[in-house]
Amino acid sequence: MKLEKCAYCGEITDMPFECNYCKDPFCSEHRLPEEHRCVKLTSIRASKFGQKKIIRDEGPNKPSLFKRIFRKFKD
Ligand SMILES: [Zn+2]
Ligand SMILES: [Zn+2]
Repeated sequence: MKLEKCAYCGEITDMPFECNYCKDPFCSEHRLPEEHRCVKLTSIRASKFGQKKIIRDEGPNKPSLFKRIFRKFKD
């Protein structure tokens, strides 16, 4: 098990959430960019602003990714 400290509040968690943007570990409370004042938040906002279309690609890609993660845990 991997213990990580939330980069925002310093709480130790055995299930850290990695921010997709700054790649820092966070607790469940601070995993969202808005909750930990993500350093990339300004760029996220900028890209959201310029992008009116939100591309949703959660179809056939998701199960394979999940499998890959699962395999990593087993090894
Ligand atoms: Zn936290
Ligand atoms: Zn972040």
